[in-house]
Amino acid sequence: MAYVQDVLEDLKKKNANEPEFVQAATEILESLEPVFEKHPEYQKAGLLERLVEPERIVMFRVPWVDDEGKVQVNRGYRVQFNSAIGPYKGGLRFHESVNISIIKFLGFEQILKNSLTGMLIGGGKGGSDFDPKGKSDDEVMKFCQSFMNELYRHIGPETDVPAGDIGVGAREVGYLFGQYKRLVNVHHCVLTGSGLEYGGSLARKEATGYGLVYITEEALKHRKDSFEGKRVVVSGSGNVAIYAAEKAIELGGNVITMSDSSGYIYDENGINLSFVKEIKEIKRGRISEYLDYFKKDELTAEFVEGSTNIWNVKCDIALPCATQNEIDEDAAKTLLKNGTKYVCEGANMPSTLEATNVFLDSEIIYLPGKAANAGGVATSALEMAQRSSKLHWSFDEVDSKLKNIMINIYKNIDKIAKDYGFEDNYVMGSNIAGFIKVANAMMAQGIV
Ligand code: NDP
Repeated sequence: MAYVQDVLEDLKKKNANEPEFVQAATEILESLEPVFEKHPEYQKAGLLERLVEPERIVMFRVPWVDDEGKVQVNRGYRVQFNSAIGPYKGGLRFHESVNISIIKFLGFEQILKNSLTGMLIGGGKGGSDFDPKGKSDDEVMKFCQSFMNELYRHIGPETDVPAGDIGVGAREVGYLFGQYKRLVNVHHCVLTGSGLEYGGSLARKEATGYGLVYITEEALKHRKDSFEGKRVVVSGSGNVAIYAAEKAIELGGNVITMSDSSGYIYDENGINLSFVKEIKEIKRGRISEYLDYFKKDELTAEFVEGSTNIWNVKCDIALPCATQNEIDEDAAKTLLKNGTKYVCEGANMPSTLEATNVFLDSEIIYLPGKAANAGGVATSALEMAQRSSKLHWSFDEVDSKLKNIMINIYKNIDKIAKDYGFEDNYVMGSNIAGFIKVANAMMAQGIV
């Protein structure tokens, strides 16, 4: 459709140095063509031109002093992309690869993801090229305090509520919140993923991974299938990967791999998750250390260097939970050749555009990240609800709400895909379902 293609061409010109943002925008915009054909009023209101332009971007210097007394300077970002349906909401990523393109792609996806949850939250994302890996606790604290010294001006419980993402877990959220509270002298919900002692929600830590498995389970159920006895390949070994693996194992799946950026572990008998938790959540070590947990004559696992080789492992269900573009076209074809039936994304945009097309052109059931990993942000919204009502729900209460949200997301994207004539195409279903709610809110609010 000419309108969508014109906006996309303009976006590519204006953001030529932002490949990840262009990639996410291309996938989303092209899938929205049928909506614009049905709703010419959206075009008249310049809806797409407005949607692709963030409402605000903040970029700032983050100076701090390392353990050797040397001054370090990182770059901080917050992209407040769209607040049509609620305050900006989206994580902070601390990783050396972070740049404006990555933060914009994540923020753009977040608009539709947050809409899909059914909660009233807009889209935003932020972070820094600071990498907590290998830093002392003291260095991480100093960095977080310096980062918040600027960020606090731009966030607030009714404005923008960040959370964690890659490199930002409970430790980082704690330091960030401590500095925020010190600066504004108010103890309110301005960061989710907080510790339980100061306002956090039970099941938030587990939410993204559990949610991924709940929505996958729903897709399986609709095909009269289940996790029972399935070979499951999980990539990553961070927050999302660990709890996706935990729930998949609980439902009878055999999780045979996990990885980090150096490589993957493969254990035909099933990964022992308590070892992975100790390595990653307590020691902050490398996944290869998994082998050290076995006596030499009892070793069933192996470590394979190179994290992307993980997609060569034969599986029924693939759960990419590490990072963007970890599955390229070749990896997608390998999965297909090996008989994989389900690819459900815990990470944000783990599949390249070419890989996505391989999945969509095949019989594979492909659940894109913005639907499949929405359980994290949905539970963040549940955390906000508990904070503002001064209530504290039990683990089971939060978990059952999370499960319902994921089932509803599945039903919603499945129905929208069918309604638009794209049965089983959950890229179309997710993008269209997420977009329509935001579009109608933007229409109602005038040209702003
Ligand atoms: P963590 O920092 O807890 O873990 C990230 C994992 O991915 C680590 O195992 C890390 O390995 C690996 N990884 C990171 N970068 C790369 C890379 N370039 N190549 C290979 N492996 C890499 O992050 P999360 O688990 O929170 O996030 C994982 C994904 O899920 C991200 O895409 C994130 O945006 C998405 N997500 C997270 C949500 C959440 O609630 N946390 C919510 C929704 C989506 P290493 O330690 O070697 O870097």
